[in-house]
Amino acid sequence: MALFDFAAHIPRVTLPRGLSVCSICQAWPAQAICSPCIDRFAQPMVRCPVCALPGFAHACPTCCASPPAWDQALCAVEYGFPWDACIARLKFSGDSASAQTLAHVMQHAPGVEPALESADLVVPMPLSQERLRERGFNQALELARHLSPGKTLRDALLRIRHTPTQASLPRAERLGNLAGAMVVHPAQAGALQHRRVVLIDDVMTTGSSLQTAALALRQVGVRHITAVVFARTDAPHQTDRPAHFGVGENPGHVSHRLGSA
Ligand SMILES: [Zn+2]
Ligand SMILES: [Zn+2]
Repeated sequence: MALFDFAAHIPRVTLPRGLSVCSICQAWPAQAICSPCIDRFAQPMVRCPVCALPGFAHACPTCCASPPAWDQALCAVEYGFPWDACIARLKFSGDSASAQTLAHVMQHAPGVEPALESADLVVPMPLSQERLRERGFNQALELARHLSPGKTLRDALLRIRHTPTQASLPRAERLGNLAGAMVVHPAQAGALQHRRVVLIDDVMTTGSSLQTAALALRQVGVRHITAVVFARTDAPHQTDRPAHFGVGENPGHVSHRLGSA
């Protein structure tokens, strides 16, 4: 006889404020994602300290050959089950409980707490104005607010409009196009100069967006950048990575990296 799935039949709207079922296992009452699910699905992995690719205790060959414009990347989970659904919920529903829970998982990932403590400012990856209008919120900003409300600098980075669509450009131009598609808000440039920054995003795939953001931050003199993402996809197409990291690379960042290790 099939067991009656009691939790699945509890209407969320009738639960007292603060109570819900775990989004993954449906345990009730639970936080948006329960602790056993976090323990089970967010096990720390050995990762490249520069790009967070799993399986490397030291800088991976790609980072050695073509280091990104940021100093360090930290990541809580692999992109995939069950986190892909949690990220989608955050991205498309703006569910604040999801943001809080994903931020909680991020905060407990190795290295994240010290990075936040030593940062002067926390900068979320920006959405384009069009995307912001569609969704009404920026999921990276929601994560940043939960991670470090006192240090979060909203609107520090701006996505600038670029007319040719990415798909219509040859690969090299596409990367160049991306590299110029983000700038620091002129009013925030002074606040960022010589600072240590944590750059927040929900998902890292090839790293090209983070690279674009990091280059924009370097341009105004940011001293140290730690990219902190909730999820990272596994090895992207290896042939893409060095080029992404190398786009418009600012040679000056190497001395920043050495000077701030
Ligand atoms: Zn659970
Ligand atoms: Zn790496």
